[in-house]
Amino acid sequence: MSFVKHLECSRCGKLFSHLQLQNLCTACRSPLLVRYRLDEIRRGLKKSALADRPTDMWRYIELMPVDDEEDIVTLGEGFTPLLPLHRLGASLNLSRLFVKDESLNPTGTFKARGLSAAVSLARKHGVKKLAIPSAGNAAGALAAYGAHAGLEVFIFMPEDAPAANVIEAHVTGAHVELVPGFINDAARVLEERKQQESWFDVSTLKEPFRIEGKKTMGYELSEQLHWKVPDVILYPAGVGTGLIGMWKAFAEMEELGWIGSKRPRMVVVQAQGCAPIVKAFEEKKDSAEPWPSPKTFAAGIRVPKALGDFLMLRILRESKGTAVAVSDVLILESIYEVGSREGLFFAPEGAACVVALKKLLQNGWITPSETVVLFNTGSGTKYLDLIEKAKG
Ligand SMILES: *Cc1c(COP(=O)(O)O)cnc(C)c1O
Ligand SMILES: [Zn+2]
Repeated sequence: MSFVKHLECSRCGKLFSHLQLQNLCTACRSPLLVRYRLDEIRRGLKKSALADRPTDMWRYIELMPVDDEEDIVTLGEGFTPLLPLHRLGASLNLSRLFVKDESLNPTGTFKARGLSAAVSLARKHGVKKLAIPSAGNAAGALAAYGAHAGLEVFIFMPEDAPAANVIEAHVTGAHVELVPGFINDAARVLEERKQQESWFDVSTLKEPFRIEGKKTMGYELSEQLHWKVPDVILYPAGVGTGLIGMWKAFAEMEELGWIGSKRPRMVVVQAQGCAPIVKAFEEKKDSAEPWPSPKTFAAGIRVPKALGDFLMLRILRESKGTAVAVSDVLILESIYEVGSREGLFFAPEGAACVVALKKLLQNGWITPSETVVLFNTGSGTKYLDLIEKAKG
């Protein structure tokens, strides 16, 4: 038996049963969050017991929405390394700079976490056909986990999605449709057809378990820092699933008695060509306006309108965080800088965090004695065509 109590709307608080599949809140069309019986988990599970567990994201199984291990569809996702960046850090006069290197996940990005969780639950509830709109990496991950689970997968991507995502989706046997426009246009096409095709929509935040997969980044990060949290986390945000998930993880861990009340200052990093959350944060708004004609080669954060915008903005304020927009020119430069200094080939989204870090060191928002974690959310090898093009 799982420790799930129910699902709770993140906006209006309405409760939903976890015994059937849900998408958005039926009352206000907002994302649902999974709530657990944390007091029971607290009594039965000591964090020291984790040491003997498998080194993947399912080591926190009590905090995941599955009934038993047999429900899990896994390709080995999670427990990625937290690597110190000594040489890059020294060049910036930072002695405690780390990267959570998500490029080591199956399919080369952290989308694996959310889709491992979502596909596990969908299969358990008898779903046969899964559909997703995606900027690219979520499509690749869904195709892989869907294939592993023996389910049929339907993918809708912008026509200029990274070549790797189109190829990996074909390799793993998904039906792929390329749509003119952006991820929101792909979502519209899916929406029009999902009813009659009996597809289960695993769009991020419309499907509640992808947050649970991505929240494990928060658990791992704390465990890897010996149950402390860093001072600052830099996160390249599109829909914000990982940000929302990690924030949820910190709250759960505090209730479990695993960490204290200190929280990291959370930084949303976006590209100057698509920065709706940065704009809304600067204007002190509670939600973001859709970004007209989004443009950046950091495909994973080319999201003009995010369903969870209000949650991201709330987290930025609660954590005393901030939001930074960076240019594609500097992102490209940083890919090469991290590569030559550290031997890591960051995705553009990860490199964007390096650009933002420099900005925040320059203006004094981050100080040299602080512990800073940046997220490299994917492997640069998935962007070869876009990096060549960006070099011009
Ligand atoms: C999807 C994606 C992001 C954005 O993730 P969210 O948590 O949905 O905001 C960042 N980087 C990469 C490589 C991605 O694929
Ligand atoms: Zn609601």
